[in-house]
Amino acid sequence: MLKQTILLPEVIIDSHCHGRDMEESHKTTVKQTLLEARNGNISISVLMPNTNPPIDWIYRLRHYITIKKQAEKFLKLRQQYLYFGITDFNFEECDQALRFPEVVGLKNYPKGEDMESVTTGKIGVMYDSTILLGMKLCRDADKVFAAHCDDPKIIAIEGNTIKAEVEYVKKIIESAKLMPGVKIVICHVSCRQSAELILQAQTEGTRIAMELVAHYLWFNKDGTNWNPNIDPIFYHCFNNLRGKEHRIFLVNLLTLNNPLIFIGSDTACHTKYEKLAKQLGGIPSNQEMVAVIVTLASQLGLSDEQVARLLSWNAGEFLNIPVSRNLVEYKLEKRIDDLQYNNGIVVNPWNGSKLLFPVKI
Ligand SMILES: [Zn+2]
Repeated sequence: MLKQTILLPEVIIDSHCHGRDMEESHKTTVKQTLLEARNGNISISVLMPNTNPPIDWIYRLRHYITIKKQAEKFLKLRQQYLYFGITDFNFEECDQALRFPEVVGLKNYPKGEDMESVTTGKIGVMYDSTILLGMKLCRDADKVFAAHCDDPKIIAIEGNTIKAEVEYVKKIIESAKLMPGVKIVICHVSCRQSAELILQAQTEGTRIAMELVAHYLWFNKDGTNWNPNIDPIFYHCFNNLRGKEHRIFLVNLLTLNNPLIFIGSDTACHTKYEKLAKQLGGIPSNQEMVAVIVTLASQLGLSDEQVARLLSWNAGEFLNIPVSRNLVEYKLEKRIDDLQYNNGIVVNPWNGSKLLFPVKI
């Protein structure tokens, strides 16, 4: 029989969240994103630095922390966290940024010779030597080096293929081996090959964590679980969605008792009009993240403790975010998703998905 209730961790962490704001306030704001996170039972979001302007200088970090603190106060939230963006030219700033208590580490976005980042905005790293230096700074500060893996050289030839992701994962793993002890997160792993490389590297003693995000666990590139009434562009994201066999493989990783696996939403809002006009990549998913994991946990028969490891304890331990080990009881409601993002300015591609939503008792 289907479970009626679930015990979830008192503090749920989303390890990967795009709060936008500033020049992109029309897409969403930190306050709006954290409000939606709270609606989705997320207690702590870790914000990403590829904002406009990007968080790659200390004065911008201070400014974004002010925005974050105002949102925390308004929404009565505990401390939220963020990454600082590494570039080929900001090592001194990275060194300083890593001393901020709310900064969990450095985020590395690959950038090609044409100076275009593989993600929204211009932030990124072109030189392999920067990756090593960033890892050293993180290791010395006992913080985390997070990598978005998609190789610009391969993208230029064949697009955002599995090969493009895997080759960059290999680069990060090889660099990590040159910096023993460094803590790495491979962000939003989308395919079996990347996952296998990470698991293999873990057995060799590296501290390389795997971040799994809701949309690769739910959507396939062939349209599985897509809403046919929503334009396919709303399922376009970086890394790209992969075939069914990859999704099934990633879902099965949820059963592993592996402290180096945790969950992020990678919620990345663009307005409806920008998505359609500019074909931008990004799927908003912070209100569904917990529901998706709970739904899959129900299908897989996972224990409540295993769900707590995935949604809180593993990330807390790895990112040095203090979390309690207390569990709280929730009622499970089977609902068809009809949630809105940023008051409908952002289209929700989860609309129509049948999910188990945990509701506080
Ligand atoms: Zn992201």
